[in-house]
Amino acid sequence: MNKYTIVGLSFTVLVILIFIVKLVMSPPGVYKRVGEWKVQPVVLVCGDDTNFTNKGVDFWRDRGYFVEDTLTTRACPEQLEGFILVSEGDNLEADQLGKTEVVVSAEGFITKAHIYLRDFEDELTFAHEMGHAFGFDHTPRSGKLMNADPRQQDWKH
Ligand SMILES: [Zn+2]
Repeated sequence: MNKYTIVGLSFTVLVILIFIVKLVMSPPGVYKRVGEWKVQPVVLVCGDDTNFTNKGVDFWRDRGYFVEDTLTTRACPEQLEGFILVSEGDNLEADQLGKTEVVVSAEGFITKAHIYLRDFEDELTFAHEMGHAFGFDHTPRSGKLMNADPRQQDWKH
């Protein structure tokens, strides 16, 4: 073996090692996150009923992501620091069931979030959007809550 073969082989081994380490370090269920809350956020529903939020709030609580409280308001405010606003309807694409806007501070903390839902009855979409509100990104794995495609989402982290 000449010098170049050895360098080439070492490089290949290194690349494979890095790949294996990455695989071990990111087991399924560990997602990329845009940030995390410094304080437990309050879920503020722009409506008069919070029942549809229970299942999603419980889903995340069981995994260690807590909200301080879940409240309703008749007069929906602008985005507020420390709050996850939840409102129905406006600014969704035709085929979108929900979307979430998250504001992340320069220090990397989520300071406010706004969930838009097509339908307040849709507990699964609410739970998915709560994942975004907690800073989680999509996963390509089907059957997981954070899959981007609603048809491939289920109550699994
Ligand atoms: Zn999503």
